[in-house]
Amino acid sequence: KTPVVAIVGRPNVGKSTIFNRIINERVSIVEDTPGVTRDRIYAHANWLGRNFSLIDTGGIQLGNDEFNEEIKAQAEVAIDEADVIVFLTDVTAHLTLMDETIAKMLFKTNKPVILAVNKADNPEQRNDIFDFYSLGLGDPIPISGAHGTGIGDLLDEIIKNF
Ligand code: GDP
Ligand code: MG
Repeated sequence: KTPVVAIVGRPNVGKSTIFNRIINERVSIVEDTPGVTRDRIYAHANWLGRNFSLIDTGGIQLGNDEFNEEIKAQAEVAIDEADVIVFLTDVTAHLTLMDETIAKMLFKTNKPVILAVNKADNPEQRNDIFDFYSLGLGDPIPISGAHGTGIGDLLDEIIKNF
C-alpha cells in the first residue's frame, strides 16, 4: 500500500505552498486570506524513488463547523488517514495557541509526527525556530516554501518512516 503523508497546521502557515513544492506542481491555490485553499488536496509524490500520497488537510471542508473546530477536524483526518503527519507552523507568527492545541492532539497518536517550521526564509528566522521545541514533538525542521530551502531535509525525514 502506498504510504499516506498528511500536512496539518492552522490556516496561512503555508500548507498549500509546501504541498505544491513537494509535488512539483502548482495545483493547490495559495491565497493570502487564511484557509482559502479549496481545490486539490490529494496528489502523488515521489522522493528518492519512494512513492507516497500527499494530503493537504487545509483543503478539507467538513461542513459548517466553527473555524477552530474545522482545523481540529482536519487534524483528526490526518491522525486517522495518514501514515506520517507533517505538522506545519510559521516562524514569522511565532508559536500560537492554535499550534499548541493541534500539537496536543498529535501528541496522542502513535504515528510519526514531523514538525516543520515554514517561512524560515533567512538565517535570523532559522534561529527563531528553537521556540518550537516547546511543542514536545522533537526537532523542528526549518523550511521555506518561498525559497524552497529545507524541503529536501523534510522529505528525507518523511521517507525515513516508510
Ligand atoms: P495555507 O493556508 O496553510 O495553505 O497557506 P498558503 O500556502 O496558502 O500560504 C499562505 C501565505 O503564506 C501565502 O501568502 C504564501 O505566499 C505565504 N508563504 C508560504 N510559504 C512561505 C514562505 O516560506 N515564506 C514566506 N515569507 N511566505 C510564505
Ligand atoms: Mg491552503
